[in-house]
Amino acid sequence: MNIRCSYCRNSFNLGRDFIAHAVAEADEKRQKHVGVECIKCRKMIKVPVKQMRRFVPRQEAAAEEEEVQA
Ligand SMILES: [Zn+2]
Repeated sequence: MNIRCSYCRNSFNLGRDFIAHAVAEADEKRQKHVGVECIKCRKMIKVPVKQMRRFVPRQEAAAEEEEVQA
């Protein structure tokens, strides 16, 4: 998932693992945004959880269930 820093205009990629973790944490805290630190200027960029969730379509839970059934 590509993020563009609104402070320094640097764009960088967020890994799927990172997003999955961040979304899970935001859900737990009932937050609508995830704070991501820009790799260049180190400022916090707020990314909507909704936007992140599209990159992690809850595959992990489903995959675990399948394994149990198989
Ligand atoms: Zn930046």
